[in-house]
Amino acid sequence: MPNKSLIYLDYNATAPLRPDVKAAMDAVMGQALNPSSIHASGRAARKLVEEARKNILRCVNGETLVFCSSGTEANNLALAQADSHLISSIEHDSIYKTLPNAKLAKVEAEGIIDLEDFEKLLKAEKPKLVSIMLANNETGVIQPIKEIAELAHKYGALVHTDAVQAFGKIDVDFKNLGVDMMTISCHKVGGPVGIAALVHKSSLELKPILFGGGQEKNKRPGTENVPSIVGFGEVSQLLSRQPGASVGVSERELARSETIHNVSRETSKLRDYLENEILAIAPDAIIYGKSLARLPNTSYIAMPDIEAATQLIHFDTNGICVSSGSACSSGKVEVSRILKAMNAPLAKNALRISIGWATTPEEIEQFIKSWREMYLRAKNAAA
Ligand code: PLP
Repeated sequence: MPNKSLIYLDYNATAPLRPDVKAAMDAVMGQALNPSSIHASGRAARKLVEEARKNILRCVNGETLVFCSSGTEANNLALAQADSHLISSIEHDSIYKTLPNAKLAKVEAEGIIDLEDFEKLLKAEKPKLVSIMLANNETGVIQPIKEIAELAHKYGALVHTDAVQAFGKIDVDFKNLGVDMMTISCHKVGGPVGIAALVHKSSLELKPILFGGGQEKNKRPGTENVPSIVGFGEVSQLLSRQPGASVGVSERELARSETIHNVSRETSKLRDYLENEILAIAPDAIIYGKSLARLPNTSYIAMPDIEAATQLIHFDTNGICVSSGSACSSGKVEVSRILKAMNAPLAKNALRISIGWATTPEEIEQFIKSWREMYLRAKNAAA
């Protein structure tokens, strides 16, 4: 459960575990569960893993998947399937830093891939693998992956999309996107950390990047993390594309099934309220990607006159957890590589607010109050 003495608005970093997910994990935690064992306990573990796998695949309309320990690992596994790559300049570090020699597709001012430039690169470089994220972790902007996949296939490339931020926030449909591989993980939407998956076409023979036992059909060795896999399956069932579109769903489960469409609508109402209030206070504030299709939970806001580091300290002092882009991994506040790639104005002043399943309207009011205080203080000092 969330720590209610803090206002947590950093779901794109990670989210509090949902109580239903925790209950499902608690029910198996502590048991000796190795799905490779052939005795009764091993068979029980295998059943749990396969049930979760079906629920996850059904949630994203996928064909098959390999469990991995993190989105980072699943991304690395995808990239290892080829030796020449075209990515974008706004990919997550787990793609961007893995491929220092990859060709980089440009983004336009609001953060959408420049498709003309992308096609030119496909033609000139003939990459064997294209990897473009479905939704950006900082701006929340959603890329036209279906179009990107069609173009890339026309030039003979395999296509991977990093859907870590999109999973559980918008309807993610593997087959409809037309990609060959897709990374998903559940800890941004109330599932456990320590688990993720690479969804892929059944026809694609994945080459492993780790070597050892024969788990995951020789694609990913290592004893499966059964409690976390159960948690991943539970989140997928809760956030199904269709109510009840899960394996063996009961009446009770049907009643509590949130469906991704409802979650998305309710979240974006709260996010839009926040943004409208901020713009009413400060017409000179910038909200990146506001006019584009975006994740419903993400708001990337630049407050004029005050740098992100100062804002972060102010909010932290007031018990509010937000983030300045992706710099959380280094513990330092740096200007976002994503905003730089977009040539975005006021990049030094940008803070990401990302909300989720436990966020309340009262918490949003508290955030707005705190934002207003700092903004007006800066304006008065400048006057
Ligand atoms: N891809 C994106 C878009 C992300 O936002 C993240 C994490 O923030 C990852 C991949 C990596 O996920 P993890 O840190 O859980 O391995």
